[in-house]
Amino acid sequence: MEIKTAKIKERENLIMKLNRSQFEALQKGVNKLLSSTQQSSKEYIVEFVLCPICKSEKTHLTKEDKIKFLVCDKCNSRTAK
Ligand SMILES: [Zn+2]
Repeated sequence: MEIKTAKIKERENLIMKLNRSQFEALQKGVNKLLSSTQQSSKEYIVEFVLCPICKSEKTHLTKEDKIKFLVCDKCNSRTAK
């Protein structure tokens, strides 16, 4: 359990370090990863890239007052991370 949490934190820190083009490259890989059998990658992508409201991959990350948000470009929803 602790190991899984640590890994999620690690991934979270990693994704926040991505520059815009790297984040876009990750988004482009969404469909490919979703159709793959790698469950952990699927969870990762769903957690950090897909909009929880409309499931769009057209999202970006933002940080305000030390709180990270996943902002959807399609429905404009904001999800605190
Ligand atoms: Zn959305």
